[in-house]
Amino acid sequence: MRHRRSLLAARAARLHLSGIRKMMIAAARYSDVIRLEVGEPDFATPGYIIDAVSADLRTGLYTHYSPVAGYAELRNALAARLSREHGLTVDPASELMVSVGGAGSLYAAIMATVDPGDEVLIPDPGYPQYTQMTLLAEGAPVYYPLREENNFQPDLADLRSRIGRRAKAILLNSPQNPTGAVLDRQTLDGIAALAQEHDLLVISDEVYSTLVYTAEPHISIASLPDMFERTVTINSFSKAYAMTGWRLGYAAAPAAIMTEMVKMQSFFNSCASSVSQRAALAALTRSDESQAMTAEYHRRRDWFVAALNGLPGVRCPTPAGAFYVFPNISGTNLSAQEFSERLLERAHVTSVPGTAFGPSGEGHVRMSFATAMDNLQEAVRRMQTVVPGLAAG
Ligand code: PMP
Repeated sequence: MRHRRSLLAARAARLHLSGIRKMMIAAARYSDVIRLEVGEPDFATPGYIIDAVSADLRTGLYTHYSPVAGYAELRNALAARLSREHGLTVDPASELMVSVGGAGSLYAAIMATVDPGDEVLIPDPGYPQYTQMTLLAEGAPVYYPLREENNFQPDLADLRSRIGRRAKAILLNSPQNPTGAVLDRQTLDGIAALAQEHDLLVISDEVYSTLVYTAEPHISIASLPDMFERTVTINSFSKAYAMTGWRLGYAAAPAAIMTEMVKMQSFFNSCASSVSQRAALAALTRSDESQAMTAEYHRRRDWFVAALNGLPGVRCPTPAGAFYVFPNISGTNLSAQEFSERLLERAHVTSVPGTAFGPSGEGHVRMSFATAMDNLQEAVRRMQTVVPGLAAG
């Protein structure tokens, strides 16, 4: 059937398939592919969580809608956690919501605060959803670069130079996807000062907060003096508890912002899944296997970084957090896109070109070490064979 006009919205054409999804599609061509492109724990959700949810389901009480912001019991447990681990004092009734993944909180935060034309400062390289969600809100993404020579910490003078008249919000991500950088105290103090000087909102994506491998702890910017009032803190059960498929995240923000975020959520999701909320409550209150998982990621990180640094033309900094390496591959004389494509074709190993995370990602690829050690070892064996000749032909 022919249409006299497009049935699609212009907005759909403005969004682009993420480079991560493109790599997933390309990888489906091979049966023996080693998947290092996805940001997903290989662990199954811990058994104690599954057991608790199974029992809850049988009561018949948790197969209905929950309040829009989430069950009060879970919000109370989350407020206790934010106080204990992030130094935040949050009123669970008015300053906290449970969402469909961290992504749901991110979208609610952006939709509730960004007007058309408002500028949002976004890390480059950074998680692609920040740009696309800003575009959905008709805001204007403004990239601030993270450079390897600065350990992927934002340069404060550079950041200041990008704060224009329409600047509304700054997006932070620590520990960071894709670089693994953890924002240090000095940088956070500097960003807090800039946000106060220019009256900016801070949206702080902390979904990897439990995955830190150094002695320096993760710091929530909202815990710094006078920062809670201008910060949306976002976290998730996806990475810390191997619960990506349960789609459960949460956000904390001052009541005036949270009220609007909850309103947004009521219109696009109604509420997060009730069953998943029970799983999250069990994850928080029954036991804690997230530390054991973090220890295992730590072991994989150390092995993988050392192995990658042994490859010709590859220089791999050690990430302080998250579960990604972001090696510099410019010594192979290939672009990030060429490197990733050839590695897939010749070694059947997937990675994501750094440029999928923004223009400053050129010269790098992202690989995840949230996969079994055997897979990492096999990936390295294949890379040792093909990387020396990758630039040829
Ligand atoms: N933020 C970052 C930086 C991420 O890498 C991800 C997932 N890859 C998310 C947010 C969203 O995670 P989820 O919605 O599963 O909680």
